[in-house]
Amino acid sequence: MTESKKFLLRESDIPTQWYNILPDIPVKPLPIINPATKEPLKAEDLYPLFAEELARQEFNDTDSWIEIPDEVREMYKIWRPTPLVRARGLEKLLDTPAHIYFKNESVSPVGSHKLNSAIAQAYYCKQQGITNITTETGAGQWGAALSLAAKHFGLALAVYMVKVSYHQKPYRRSIMQTYGAEVVASPGMSTKAGRKIITENPNHQGSLGTAISEAVELAMSTPNCRYTLGSVLNHVSLHQTVIGLEAEKQMEMAGEYPDTVIACFGGGSNFSGLAFPFLRHNFSGSARTRFIAAEPESCPKLTRGIMQYDFGDEAGYTPLIPMLTLGHNFAPANIHAGGLRYHGAGAIVSRLKADGLIDAVDIPQLETFRAAQTFAAAEGIIPAPESSHAIAATIRRALKAREEGRKEVILFNLSGHGLIDMAAYDRFLSGDLADYSVSDEEIARNVASLEKII
Ligand SMILES: *Cc1c(COP(=O)(O)O)cnc(C)c1O
Repeated sequence: MTESKKFLLRESDIPTQWYNILPDIPVKPLPIINPATKEPLKAEDLYPLFAEELARQEFNDTDSWIEIPDEVREMYKIWRPTPLVRARGLEKLLDTPAHIYFKNESVSPVGSHKLNSAIAQAYYCKQQGITNITTETGAGQWGAALSLAAKHFGLALAVYMVKVSYHQKPYRRSIMQTYGAEVVASPGMSTKAGRKIITENPNHQGSLGTAISEAVELAMSTPNCRYTLGSVLNHVSLHQTVIGLEAEKQMEMAGEYPDTVIACFGGGSNFSGLAFPFLRHNFSGSARTRFIAAEPESCPKLTRGIMQYDFGDEAGYTPLIPMLTLGHNFAPANIHAGGLRYHGAGAIVSRLKADGLIDAVDIPQLETFRAAQTFAAAEGIIPAPESSHAIAATIRRALKAREEGRKEVILFNLSGHGLIDMAAYDRFLSGDLADYSVSDEEIARNVASLEKII
């Protein structure tokens, strides 16, 4: 293992403001709308569902910089600033002229970037006097992060966890329970939405879409309770920009600027968090960085989805969001990158992709685990199966740079570590894992059921 070089910041370098990309986007996303009236929604319309400040952030398209509250920044100090690492071990192993850097978000207490937004969301709920919060979780990363944040701010939390992950990843459930959260497998019989899904499909393994439906239903039917979401929405991407803002300073320390920025893609929060601060320099004309979102072959909303208004959840409780989507009833294969099994992409990222301002690649499951094993051998860190999609995309580019004999500065986000995903690695190592592709017919059939609003 070649010694890799770390670029470290001080606590005082933790950003004091988040970067809001909305005012700077060349073509703004269409508004989110009410499914019944098709009228654009305002922040006030979301107050019953989200903390008011979060609803306001969701619609803020005028302030490029938003103050990070002191209480939130104090908590960030538990693990931020996170290291930026020049992955010399990986460069050497790949024998590439590319310079590879990664931002290591896996050092958070819960092992992923999700805590950046969980703390902010729990804080704004607490500040408003809310006592109970609900959420969904796929692989359990968001649920674990929110459990820690809820504990810190003294909020009661109920987490609906995608059924397949509830069984595949029992330790994430234990982590949430250790922080004091209540965890329920979704779909389940405790909500109307869950009962309907199970009646129609008794073997439904759950998806982020089913879990969101159940969490939203509980929030709407419980006094002083609000719902929180770990990805997809603008305010979640906003909170994650601490990743890119720190990385920007660290790349400066390294004396380089990224030609290519890569992150894995579920609903878009870690991708946005790393990419948006760099993207603003593309908008202003001072940089020409390439941005690549790496999604699973089995859930290819960016590369093969259609641009349409769609629900964020399976049952259709949420507002309609303009997104690249596979359809809200899309049931992705049971791949081990649970955090990437989501049918759609956030409105901003969807717009940027449609306008050719960012790229996306879809990657087969086995390639991601091979990339993970390569990365572990070279850098010593076992990555989350989600993050392994970014690593696989990075390896593809680094090998291409070798083929073409040119230097390329690549920066990717290590969104989490995989130490709680070893059951998935076990299956990979014993040759039990397979690739899952989706046919064009399957996608066409699924999106055909969407109302044609765009
Ligand atoms: C949740 C998660 C993701 C995917 O979510 P995004 O909102 O697209 O970032 C990626 N990596 C890890 C480690 C996660 O926990």
